[in-house]
Amino acid sequence: MQGDAYLKCIDPHCGLEYPIKSTNVECEKGHLLDVKYKNKPSDSLKEVFYQRRNSQGNIFNESGVWRFRELLNFCQIDTENIEECSKYLVSLDGAEGRQSKPYQMSKAAEFIGISNDKLWLQPEGYNPSGSFKDNGMASAVTHAKMVGAKKIVCASTGNTSASAGMFAANEGMHCDVYIPSGQIAPGKLSQAYQFGAQIIEVDGNFDDALKQSLNDAKNYNGYTVNSVNPFRIEGQKTIPYRALEYLKWESPDWIVYPGGALGNTSSCGKTLMELHQWGWIKKIPRIAVINSEGASTLSDLYNGKFEGEELRWNKGNANTELITRYYDHLDKEGIRPKTKATAIQIGRPANILKGLRALEFTNGVVTTVSDSEMLDGMSVVGLNGFDCEMASGASVVGIKKLINEEIIKKDDVVVGILTGRQKDAMLPVEYHSNPKNKFAIPPKN
Ligand SMILES: [Zn+2]
Repeated sequence: MQGDAYLKCIDPHCGLEYPIKSTNVECEKGHLLDVKYKNKPSDSLKEVFYQRRNSQGNIFNESGVWRFRELLNFCQIDTENIEECSKYLVSLDGAEGRQSKPYQMSKAAEFIGISNDKLWLQPEGYNPSGSFKDNGMASAVTHAKMVGAKKIVCASTGNTSASAGMFAANEGMHCDVYIPSGQIAPGKLSQAYQFGAQIIEVDGNFDDALKQSLNDAKNYNGYTVNSVNPFRIEGQKTIPYRALEYLKWESPDWIVYPGGALGNTSSCGKTLMELHQWGWIKKIPRIAVINSEGASTLSDLYNGKFEGEELRWNKGNANTELITRYYDHLDKEGIRPKTKATAIQIGRPANILKGLRALEFTNGVVTTVSDSEMLDGMSVVGLNGFDCEMASGASVVGIKKLINEEIIKKDDVVVGILTGRQKDAMLPVEYHSNPKNKFAIPPKN
C-alpha cells in the first residue's frame, strides 16, 4: 500500500501534488489541499467496521475514528496488530468518537414537526474534550507525529484549543494556542490551561490570531492543527461514517451542520464524494449548513445577498474575487461576526472553498437562524436528556426552518449533527430563568 496517499491541491486548474509527509496546508499558489488515496476500499470493510464495535480491548477498534482506519489511511499501514498501530495512530485511549452515534430524540422531533423515526441527532459533544474536534485532532496529531513535530499550534476561542491541548498533553507534545487579546472569556480557555497549553495573546480578532499562528508555525517549527490542515478533515469524515453505519449505509436525505469555519461541511462533502466514487452509496444526501444570523458569510454569499451573485464552487471556478470584495466590505463597514454561539462566530470561514465544493456535490442549501432560536434548539435537546452547546442548537432549529419552508420534506430522513457539549455554564441558567423562553422551567421558591 506504500505510496498510495498523497496531497493534492483542490483547484482543478492547479492540482499541484505533494508527498504525504508534507506539512503544507496550502499549495504554493495558496489553494487548500486534499488528502487523496489511490486505492479503492472494498465494501467488505463494512462488515469489518461493524465487528470492530465489539472491540475486545483493542483501542483502535474502540475508537470511533480509527475503527474506520482503512478509509483515512494516510499513514499507509496495513495491519490489525495493536502494537504496530500504536506506533502510528494517535488516540485518547480509544475514546474519540466512541460514544457518538445518531439518536432519536422525540421532544426535538415534536418541536421540529417531523415524525420521530425520520429524525436522527448525533451528539459529538460526547467526545473526551467535549466537541467534534477530537475526531479531526486524532488524525491531525497522527500526521504531526508522522512528520516528527514536537509542537502543535492553533488559533482558537474554545473547542479547538481544548482538543489540541488534550491530545498534545497525551502525546507529550507542546501546544501553543493563539487567541485574540481581550476578546475571549477566560472560562472558554479553561481546558487549554488545564492541559498545559501555552496561551499567546494577539492584538486583533480571531482572523488575525489565525494568521499569526500560521506564520509562527511556519517560522518556528510548529504544526498547525486548525481545520485548514487537510488531515483534520480526514478524521472528521468519521462523523458521517458513524451516522451512515448506524443507518446501515443507507443514505439519509439530509445531513445538517452548524456552519462556522466549514471544516465539517468540507469533510462531509469529501466523505460523500469518496463513498459515491467507491460505489459504497448510490444516493447522495444533501448537506444543509446553518449559519448564525450574526455570522452569516456563507449564507450571504451562497444565497446571493451580496452584489446579487450566488457564489458557487462552479466546478472549481468559484468567483473568489466576490469573496474578497465581501471581506473588504465587512472591514470597511466595521462588521464583526456577532453571536452568543461563539463556536460559529466566524466571519472568514477558512474552508469556504471546500465548503462550496461540498454544497455543489450534494445540491446543498445554506440558511441562518437567530440566537434565540439556537437557544430553543439547545434547550429542547436537553429535554431529551442530551447535552449540547448553543451552536449545536442551530442544527435543530435549522431543520425546523427548512421544513417550514418545505425545502426539507416531511417524510425526508434527516441527520443533524450536535457539534459540542455545553461550555458556557451560565447559558442554560439564564435561559431557564426567563419564563418567556419557550422551554424555560424557571426556578421556584
Ligand atoms: Zn493550487
